Amino acid sequence: MKTVSARDISAPGGGSSLTQRAPSEGERAAAPPGCYPPGEEVPIAPHLLLLTAALSGLGAAPYYDNTTVELEPLTEEGPPFYLEQLERATRRGPLEGVSIRDAAGTRAVSALSELPAEALYALYFAVMLGPEGAEWDLVVPRREAPPTPVSVWWEPDHQALVQVGPPWVRGGSAPPSAAAVEERHGVDVRDGDRGWSQIELASLDQALALLSDDERALFRALPFTRRQARSGRGGRVAAYEVDGAAPQVEVFGDTFAADGGDFVGTPEAPKEVSVFVLLHELGHGIVAVPALRAAAEAEGLDREAEALYADYERLAREVQGQVSRYNRAASPTLAEHEAIAAQVAAVKAAEEHLSAVVVARDAAARRALSLASQSPVLTAFIALGEEGPTPYGRTDPEESFAEAFALYKTDPDALKRAMPRTAAWMTGGGPLRAAVGSTLAPP
Ligand SMILES: [Zn+2]
Repeated sequence: MKTVSARDISAPGGGSSLTQRAPSEGERAAAPPGCYPPGEEVPIAPHLLLLTAALSGLGAAPYYDNTTVELEPLTEEGPPFYLEQLERATRRGPLEGVSIRDAAGTRAVSALSELPAEALYALYFAVMLGPEGAEWDLVVPRREAPPTPVSVWWEPDHQALVQVGPPWVRGGSAPPSAAAVEERHGVDVRDGDRGWSQIELASLDQALALLSDDERALFRALPFTRRQARSGRGGRVAAYEVDGAAPQVEVFGDTFAADGGDFVGTPEAPKEVSVFVLLHELGHGIVAVPALRAAAEAEGLDREAEALYADYERLAREVQGQVSRYNRAASPTLAEHEAIAAQVAAVKAAEEHLSAVVVARDAAARRALSLASQSPVLTAFIALGEEGPTPYGRTDPEESFAEAFALYKTDPDALKRAMPRTAAWMTGGGPLRAAVGSTLAPP
């Protein structure tokens, strides 16, 4: 991953790049549905950045920017430069006011020089990068000290709010074993062509811990398979995949690529970006629940139909023999006649039972197909009429839901700011209700 130097952003002729989690057309076409897209280097010309900052604000709306940013370590000469640039942005626009939030509350700063160095750095980055409306969760690295998480809200009304967290010591607590993650959350942690590292297991553990008990129940026995990124398939980050009624989450190395460089959550309690990525895949998982339940029902009915067919065949053969013997008999008694009639009726009943199960199986299979193409979870989500909450979330409703779900779990206030109706729907358990309520077979 390249590093972005904030200084490069406005230095004439200097190049900088961001890793943007937006797939190209080709990558989108190559990737199966439900995958988290690869990082893509988006070169940003310095003069365009300033232009973006100047032009933004027209129709800007609050959103959460999870574009991967890796800042260069904060140096001594940085802050005077950021201060000068920000003061200029204050005089000439677009920056109209700055507030800081800390333990004592939120207050406007009367002079930018009151801000700590990390706040100046992050604010400079957010304001110069634009666009307005963004919430950024940035990690400011230092050469010889733990990095500092900083959140910046660069609002559409040209006001900025900044919050600096305590130094972030990563991987502090003892990471869980795969068995502990399985035990705690009821999932299936698998090694593919790559094994899980301890710090990766800690992210998986954190992601699953953010689910409610009812949500966790939906993912019982779900396999999380750690794999190498597959070259030639767009270097996907992670993917939720379904084979028949069997889903799995494939987790590639890039899931963890942004860890330490950015964070999600709040600066007081930062979480690794991979926690967000894993929850994004589980968001796809919730969308898939209605179709999976119908597919599982169809599979169960299919097994039942097979067993019934075997019974039916055996019975039909037996009765056929009895009927032939009966027909050859010279003078069958009434009792024999009634016995044969009862046997023939039993074959007919078995046939009817079998065909009813086959009809139900086919109906469940059709329902699975239709629910896969139109999940009630997405239908309810789309009806809220909000899109986002991230740049990648604007690519389509499925990704929008997955991003909103992950953001709700990691930073509910950020979702509330970007998508208030969606946040309220999620607080009320809307996705789960849409997922589970709709799987009941029609009467
Ligand atoms: Zn996705």
